[in-house]
Amino acid sequence: MNGASHLIGGITAAVVLGIHSPAQLAVVAVSSLLPDIDRSNSLLGRWIPVLPSVLERTLGKRTLTHSLLFGFGIWLLLGAYPALQWAFVIGYLSHLLLDVVTGRIALLWPLPLKFGVPLFGIPPVFVETLSLAGWGAWMVIGGYQYFQIWFS
Ligand SMILES: [Zn+2]
Repeated sequence: MNGASHLIGGITAAVVLGIHSPAQLAVVAVSSLLPDIDRSNSLLGRWIPVLPSVLERTLGKRTLTHSLLFGFGIWLLLGAYPALQWAFVIGYLSHLLLDVVTGRIALLWPLPLKFGVPLFGIPPVFVETLSLAGWGAWMVIGGYQYFQIWFS
């Protein structure tokens, strides 16, 4: 799944869950892109020198940065800011969830197991396209207003 899709997925999940603070939404945006720093051509990875290409060459794609261990480590680092921890969890888990349905990730890294839940054999590119189309339709019909009523 590409960076734009992860960004849309993370922000949408956050808004649905009642996150409206700009600082929290900024954390959601970064954390929804963070796992793909293991690729030097990813949306976030292209702005970080050296680390993405080192991760890509040594550990491979969708390993350490797509694991529960990595997420827990970042969550601990944000310990002094509980509101940002919650925002991080939303963005990070949205990324992992979207990657699980469009591929396979090493959720339990360093264990050499990769998990994926193919959606009825639908090719990932169609899952991504349908997700974006669904999101667009949701925006057109005013979905954000509907959820604001629910959570306010
Ligand atoms: Zn990913």
